[in-house]
Amino acid sequence: MTPRKVSILGATGSVGTSTLDLVERYPDRFEVIALTAARNVEALADAARRTSAKLAVIDDPSLLEELRSRLVDTGCRAETGRDALAEAASGDAELVVAAIVGCAGLEPAMAAVEAGKTLALANKEALVTAGDLMTGAAARSGSVILPVDSEHNAIFQCLAGNDCKQVSKLILTASGGPFRTKSVQEMASMDARAAVAHPNWSMGAKISVDSATMMNKGLELIEAHHLFGCPSGQIDILVHPQSVVHSMVEFIDGSVIAQLGSPDMRIPIAFALSYPDRVDTGVERLDLSKVATLTFESPDPERFPALRLARAALEEGGSAPVVLNAANEEAVTAFLGGRIGFLDIARTVEEAMARTSASAPRSIADVIDIDRSARALAQHLMTELAA
Ligand code: NAD
Ligand code: MG
Repeated sequence: MTPRKVSILGATGSVGTSTLDLVERYPDRFEVIALTAARNVEALADAARRTSAKLAVIDDPSLLEELRSRLVDTGCRAETGRDALAEAASGDAELVVAAIVGCAGLEPAMAAVEAGKTLALANKEALVTAGDLMTGAAARSGSVILPVDSEHNAIFQCLAGNDCKQVSKLILTASGGPFRTKSVQEMASMDARAAVAHPNWSMGAKISVDSATMMNKGLELIEAHHLFGCPSGQIDILVHPQSVVHSMVEFIDGSVIAQLGSPDMRIPIAFALSYPDRVDTGVERLDLSKVATLTFESPDPERFPALRLARAALEEGGSAPVVLNAANEEAVTAFLGGRIGFLDIARTVEEAMARTSASAPRSIADVIDIDRSARALAQHLMTELAA
């Protein structure tokens, strides 16, 4: 078997390290071409050395010299900057894992799509902010976008090639996050430590806060629309605290198909890496007799306004999802830094959306412009909130 050539964007993060775990388990199946990271130079150099990567890209230019010296006795080139990141995404790899967090991952994800690569997409913010542009580019280049996000990976598996004509509903399951049963008053005093303590999944800080506000499910609603072409009205959200059913599809004949598994990202990542084959992931098998009970409940849009805001952004279209995402990224960073309260996250997003009326982005450059203005607006709104 010729190994599949793989690049991992965001190789030092939660999804990135799970991807490396799988890739290193099967050296005859996967050959690593490029790895990238923001600032964790030690983890990046270690991974590049272990996997014999050809290119390592560090986002922070002040760390380039250190990366070079750590890799000096290897065949791996060390680089920084936009062009190097684009090269990691569009060079020799056949499959690119997009695991950068936030809109920062948009340009390289788009570069991979334009180059006709198979894109294993974890970086949902890219699709939320530029879904139409990315799916349009994929249709032109022949790039295939395989969802790594567990819910979308589940739906992809349940659809088994059926399109939306045979589907009556996509049902995205949500754990409900660490504050599922908290009142609004209780949520008001929750700090970053409480918000990142997810009951079922171990993830990066940003997505953990998004799970606590349920903005994560809102972003996933928009992501599902772009991946599967279903309108907002055909995508439901269902809270399922055990995180065993990763999502479901209801077909027009009334049949409902669900995908189940242990809550471990290596399952959807492995599916995307080896598609259409399957490989042993080493993940603990699901034992339903131990889980015993699966429960489901409707989400509460009063306590979780982010759900309502994301649905409104999807239905409004144009620049609204870009503004939603940018304001949320800024607000989550401020919350993690202790500068705003938990409830201020959704407040900031709502106000930023209400005060913006940019036209729909026609290019990635437009998306980046709208993103930048929305971040500045969110910063301004947060200083108002603090006053
Ligand atoms: P993380 O914070 O653990 O890792 C992010 C990675 O991106 C790191 O390697 C970091 O170095 C890199 N990075 C961050 N900012 C960057 C920048 N400005 N430029 C270049 N590189 C940068 O995040 P994560 O939890 O692994 O999530 C990654 C993406 O996958 C997110 O979009 C998230 O929503 C999605 N996702 C994650 C999970 C999960 O279980 N962690 C599940 C589903 C989807
Ligand atoms: Mg998910």
